[in-house]
Amino acid sequence: MSKIILTGDRPTGKLHVGHYAGSLRRRVELQDSGEYDKIYIMIADAQALTDNADDPEKVRQNVVEVALDYMACGLDPAKSTLFIQSQIPELCELSFYYMNLVTVSRLQRNPTVKAEIQMRNFEASIPVGFFTYPISQAADITAFQATTVPVGEDQMPMLEQTKEIVHKFNTVYGDTLTEPKILLPDNQACLRLPGIDGKAKMSKSLGNCIYLSEEADEVKKKVMSMFTDPGHLRVEDPGSLEGNTVFIYLDAFCKDEHFERYLPDYANLDELKAHYQRGGLGDVKVKKFLNHVMQETLEPIRNRRKELQKDIPYIYEVLKKGSQEAKAAAAKTLDNVRNAMKINYFADQELIQQQSEKFKN
Ligand code: ATP
Ligand code: MG
Repeated sequence: MSKIILTGDRPTGKLHVGHYAGSLRRRVELQDSGEYDKIYIMIADAQALTDNADDPEKVRQNVVEVALDYMACGLDPAKSTLFIQSQIPELCELSFYYMNLVTVSRLQRNPTVKAEIQMRNFEASIPVGFFTYPISQAADITAFQATTVPVGEDQMPMLEQTKEIVHKFNTVYGDTLTEPKILLPDNQACLRLPGIDGKAKMSKSLGNCIYLSEEADEVKKKVMSMFTDPGHLRVEDPGSLEGNTVFIYLDAFCKDEHFERYLPDYANLDELKAHYQRGGLGDVKVKKFLNHVMQETLEPIRNRRKELQKDIPYIYEVLKKGSQEAKAAAAKTLDNVRNAMKINYFADQELIQQQSEKFKN
């Protein structure tokens, strides 16, 4: 069986370090491993419109921002197909058929959708499109027969929903769709990177992000303002790691070699953590170290992005070519789906024959 990746992001803003830790870094590694037959990376503009219907210009403007972030991080159009969701109308048709296989109560149980409805104050006025986006996500994944979906933890319920749809479809109509596997980050801290305010998740919609394209002084300002342990008032006090954003970021981004370069008094993160918990280590020192780590991580991305920004028509060309390729792949799956559902009337000679016989008598 082919090994196929499908994943993507909503163009609701520039990408941030949560995306990088949760999915983007892994995608680039998988791409460069050469182990996958196809890699599809989708800019989910249609999904972004489900909760931004009154601000389509925001979505439109951010498509190219996301593409720039992708390529700045190392996604290579020669190895991965980068495309725009709305350019693949086949995905709508698949969603339309999948909707019949899912109940309203099942959608209501989706914990990510529940949390997102609350965050957006949608309680009394949930757009139908938003409510059903897990179904459209199942269409995105299955359209490309994806076997592997590298995403952050918040996507687990979506993958569960997709698997249920695949199972139901294959049971009712015969084996047609491929069941995907979620690929979560192995590093606990990257599953759901918190925002700089310590809030549950860094998210474009919450404004608590460090963006991949941010200038060095802005990154530093944000790191120095980060949430730590509110009980750690004096340097001598023992500090707690629980919910301590600065240490969660170090877990996500720092490597032993960073200590050699920027904090040689410690061999690794465990030693630094132990000192913090014992007391005698100030937040400022830890934040300065984290700043070095983040700067080293982000500088090459920022520089590549600046180069890419010089030729925007090229970025659109990449997306156009990718969208054409993705459309062809999705059309094949849609054909299989229509055949399995037997809504391929004009190609079904057997049906035409059978009906002719029926009316002869
Ligand atoms: P929005 O607020 O518009 O939903 P978002 O910041 O949540 O935006 P998405 O485009 O919804 O970003 O998510 C894209 C991918 O990035 C998904 O795979 C998601 O799991 C991952 N991701 C997003 N935020 C984080 C985070 N804070 N930590 C780890 N992974 C994340
Ligand atoms: Mg999201």
